[in-house]
Amino acid sequence: MRLKAYLRGGGLASHLRLKNNENSIRYEYYLISSICWRSCSLKIVVTGGAGFIGSHLCARLLEDGHSVLCVDNLLTGSEQNIDSLHNNPRFTFLQHDVTHPFSFEADAIFHLASPASPIGYMEHPIETILVNSQGTYQMLEQARKQKALFLFTSTSEIYGDPLVHPQREDYWGNVNSIGPRACYDESKRLGETLTMEYYRQYQINARIVRIFNTYGPNSQADDGRMIPNFITQALQNESLTIYGDGNKTRSICYVSDLVEGLLLALFKPYTTGEVFNLGNTEEHTVLEYAQTIIRLCNASSPIVFESSRIDDPERRRPDITKAQRMLGWQLKVSLEDGLRRTIEWFSTQMSQLSSVRS
Ligand code: NAD
Repeated sequence: MRLKAYLRGGGLASHLRLKNNENSIRYEYYLISSICWRSCSLKIVVTGGAGFIGSHLCARLLEDGHSVLCVDNLLTGSEQNIDSLHNNPRFTFLQHDVTHPFSFEADAIFHLASPASPIGYMEHPIETILVNSQGTYQMLEQARKQKALFLFTSTSEIYGDPLVHPQREDYWGNVNSIGPRACYDESKRLGETLTMEYYRQYQINARIVRIFNTYGPNSQADDGRMIPNFITQALQNESLTIYGDGNKTRSICYVSDLVEGLLLALFKPYTTGEVFNLGNTEEHTVLEYAQTIIRLCNASSPIVFESSRIDDPERRRPDITKAQRMLGWQLKVSLEDGLRRTIEWFSTQMSQLSSVRS
């Protein structure tokens, strides 16, 4: 059942209608979205849906029975990530740059569009700034006009090189506003500000999720991130490159756990105007990740150390108490299980690539 038609026709809405004014209707609408997101078929827009996380989110929303409009300009994403979704009649792909206006109908908007890896955003710094500012503005305007639920995917990078550990949502961060990462960190911070102003000025039903390092199938092999780098190097028995001495720590979250958190953050009641960290709290050194991946790939790769990258944080670990308490979010996939699934996916990709070449 389409939610807007359900609302127009009365149904649960008539029981909830307290006052016949715009605010009460908006309130009912949001309330019903929250109540029936597991049983209704909603119209959902995913910007950046052809990217790593977006493609998993689109697949999950289709599995749950929703209609999905995936909007992506393929700047850092790939059509291959959504190949398997095209045969679902509830899936539509639109190649479009979300910094430019376009119209669509939506009950909910997940705004993920943005380069996310250091290689991606340093290669496209202006596009990154624009998609997180102008693109976020365009999506917020749509959310306002359509009374759609809205979720902005921010990042742990807004904490910069944190002076507080682990990072809670009320920590303001330690960010270099003019360094090579600023195009990403600062534009995500502005995206957060815009989202909160739309929430305060127009009472739109918006929330922010700060994603910490996420890994899994569909991530790009050449985007310079730690896990894809290590896995592709180990699968070819090449040396694994560590930037720094290997003692920096990272915590990584498997993509299906992250997607579950995004759904809960958008649809659970009482999440409007809230900010949630989503990530894994299990912290390991970069050296430990390298050693684990070598073992799981049955590789004999040596490890080489190169100088640290500029503004690369020393430690990063989320405090996820708020997401656990308010969303009931629980991590389900263990590190070894997630790494095995990711290694298997990269291994299939690499053998398909080599059979095409030969
Ligand atoms: P990704 O690069 O794989 O996906 C981003 C997608 O956005 C790509 O498909 C790209 O083509 C698209 N895009 C970029 N600019 C666009 C524009 N102007 N119009 C339309 N589409 C555009 O990245 P990802 O890892 O899937 O990240 C998704 C979101 O999650 C991003 O907002 C990112 O900042 C955030 N995030 C990701 C991680 C992570 O570990 N992967 C960590 C923190 C935050």
